[in-house]
Amino acid sequence: MEKSKKIYLDFASTTPVDPRVSFWMQKILKNNFANASAIHNLGVETKKILEKSRMNVAKIIEAHGDEIIFTSGATESNNLAIFGTLENVKSIYPHIVTTNIEHPSVLEVCKHLEKNKKAEVTYVPVEESGIIDPKKIRKALKPNTVLVSVMYANNEIGTIQPIQEVAKEIRYFNKVNSKKIIFHSDTTQGINYLPIRVERLGVDLMSFNGGKIYGPKGVGILFKKRKVELTPTIFGGNQEFGLRSGTENIVGIAGLSLALEITEKMKEKENRRLTNLRDYFIQKLLKLSSEIKLNGDLYKRLPNNINITIPRLPSDLLVLELSARGIFVSEKSACKAGEAGNSYVVEALSRNKSNSGKICKKNDKKIGSLRFSMGRQTTKLDIDYTIKSLAEILKKLKRWYN
Ligand code: PMP
Repeated sequence: MEKSKKIYLDFASTTPVDPRVSFWMQKILKNNFANASAIHNLGVETKKILEKSRMNVAKIIEAHGDEIIFTSGATESNNLAIFGTLENVKSIYPHIVTTNIEHPSVLEVCKHLEKNKKAEVTYVPVEESGIIDPKKIRKALKPNTVLVSVMYANNEIGTIQPIQEVAKEIRYFNKVNSKKIIFHSDTTQGINYLPIRVERLGVDLMSFNGGKIYGPKGVGILFKKRKVELTPTIFGGNQEFGLRSGTENIVGIAGLSLALEITEKMKEKENRRLTNLRDYFIQKLLKLSSEIKLNGDLYKRLPNNINITIPRLPSDLLVLELSARGIFVSEKSACKAGEAGNSYVVEALSRNKSNSGKICKKNDKKIGSLRFSMGRQTTKLDIDYTIKSLAEILKKLKRWYN
């Protein structure tokens, strides 16, 4: 390996901070240290930055300022969306509909509620493509359903969910049955690449963070439509319209707001560039070996996501081999039965096949998935070098794993 080679292909995990964003954040860190709740002039200056950032985010997603709640990240936003809705409903045994490939910050909340008999949950399975059928969401709705949560794009396989169609099904059900089922979407992975105007999407609640959009980590947003009522999960000084107490992370909030603005400006051009690069990458990968399988739909996936399974080769070993060559990617092992790191997402893709319940048999540890996620800094040369390195690794490892 060339000593200095560093190819970062893990942008879905987190992105580097845009230099314009870090410059802006440093300025605020230095100048705007005062508490936004203080009524003296310095506090007022900080409050101005907070409210300007809020209005900027609201403008971009076409919402109202009072519909933007700043949080510590997408995990907190998802928790607030689900717990906050449940705490607020009068129904004795409320029902939630979600999918089987949501992020753990949705799935684990649902499991917790089920375990504690606070709610019943239907996990609608995705199709083999990794995409949900909106009709199946509608079929899952019941008289006691209070919330539907469907992510915009999956963090592992990058598949894009038909959010608008799901919203339509919920609206129709609500109209016919005089219900008020709330629709939440975790849009963390989609925000960089997909349309994010909330009215168009038809969402009532929407979560995302700064760390995936070339902004800071540890800061997030929950969009909450005015008509939706939530009970807070964090109590204290009543910041963020009483829904998220705690001194505002003003540096993070300002950084997130600018990062979102830049992302939105770059979206169209960057999508085109990355889609070409993604399709080139997939084509080259599939040529490396007839055994390599692409996980998730070929086209209805994020422009930056490539997720593959290489049978018989442990994915953690492949990640380490790539890392030794200066290439940084993510892995999830699909069938390490019961072990941490299981990819329930990749496994979910095979559950709908008529001939198999799962991708692999119990205790079959030699399978997994590799996620390559590209970003603003990724070039065609990076992809060529990655393909060349992977070819060398496969040749080397084949001797042991054939
Ligand atoms: N949802 C999705 C889809 C994600 O990819 C992530 C980050 N991996 C999260 C939620 C959690 O985000 P945060 O780290 O900001 O809590």
